[in-house]
Amino acid sequence: MDSSIWEGRRAKATEVELAPNGDLLIMVGKGDDALDIKVSSIVLNLASGVSLAMLAPPKQIVMPNANPKTVLEFCKILHHHTEDLEHCDAEQILDLVGIADEWMCKKVFKPWIAQRMTKMNDQLRAATSDAFTMTAYGNLIQSETIPLVDIAATMGMEDLFWTATKASLLARSPEWMPPSPGKLPRPEAARYNRDIHEFLVKTRAQYLKQFVKNIFDCLFEGFTHWEPTETNRPGCSLQTATRFVESLDNAGLTKPLTVRHQERSLLSSMLALQRLVRANNWKRIVLEAPCTSHGNPCSYCSRDFTADMFAMIVNTIEDLPGVCHYCFFSTDRDPLVTKGPCSEHH
Ligand SMILES: [Zn+2]
Ligand SMILES: [Zn+2]
Repeated sequence: MDSSIWEGRRAKATEVELAPNGDLLIMVGKGDDALDIKVSSIVLNLASGVSLAMLAPPKQIVMPNANPKTVLEFCKILHHHTEDLEHCDAEQILDLVGIADEWMCKKVFKPWIAQRMTKMNDQLRAATSDAFTMTAYGNLIQSETIPLVDIAATMGMEDLFWTATKASLLARSPEWMPPSPGKLPRPEAARYNRDIHEFLVKTRAQYLKQFVKNIFDCLFEGFTHWEPTETNRPGCSLQTATRFVESLDNAGLTKPLTVRHQERSLLSSMLALQRLVRANNWKRIVLEAPCTSHGNPCSYCSRDFTADMFAMIVNTIEDLPGVCHYCFFSTDRDPLVTKGPCSEHH
């Protein structure tokens, strides 16, 4: 660093002492918020895989481009000066994870980050298992700026990883990519030659197709009357099913992967189906195509299509897997698991 900038910085830097006999000065930042943080090199050495033993006294580390607030938080945690990380926003958490990775002390930080993420993990868990909170869930995940998948991958947080990947499969559109993965090292791509985001994008498209298949399976369950009746008019179930397919088609629910619907997520498809089934009142469709087996409606026409569609949505959400961290990064087996990170590994 050029000496005049350095002098300017030194004059402004606020001193913070975290260890009474601190023998290491961390000089971080260069603006008005620059900090000189006095810490114990022994404490840092114990926590970090980065060796500080080679530093000659007076021991100094200069980090002009790091965020002073985050580095202070980092040192506070190592020196037991922090209660929790509730006060840290998304940006700071992301920075902390980055520093923890860079300083090779993820083990020390994992419990802290995990505790900070617990609430979010619980919210996502509850939302992904309950179709009635789908809208709330959508808002939660869409407004969420923390790249949960990346944090969980980097920190090796299996539970959060599973929940966040399931959430991503449900709520993100097939086209979605993380906003700026640059902050985190993405060790997965380099070490295992498997990129979680690429995997999620592919898997999302698969499940969107699967959802359309589920809609049709549900619609045609119990459908038997392909043949025209003796009066040569199409059978009641054919008329009914045709009307349902038309209304699905108009809502764009039969072709989720065409250009027009490329950005549709599984969640938004489900919500679209819910709206359609509610608004059109599918019972009316059955009435408009009256059952030809007079007096005693056939089993197809007496089905409650609305309830069946809603039940199908709930089942689809329940059956939607998340990705097992262990299987994804350590083994060749299929990493998609339905009921949480697979128990045989954890
Ligand atoms: Zn009928
Ligand atoms: Zn597993």
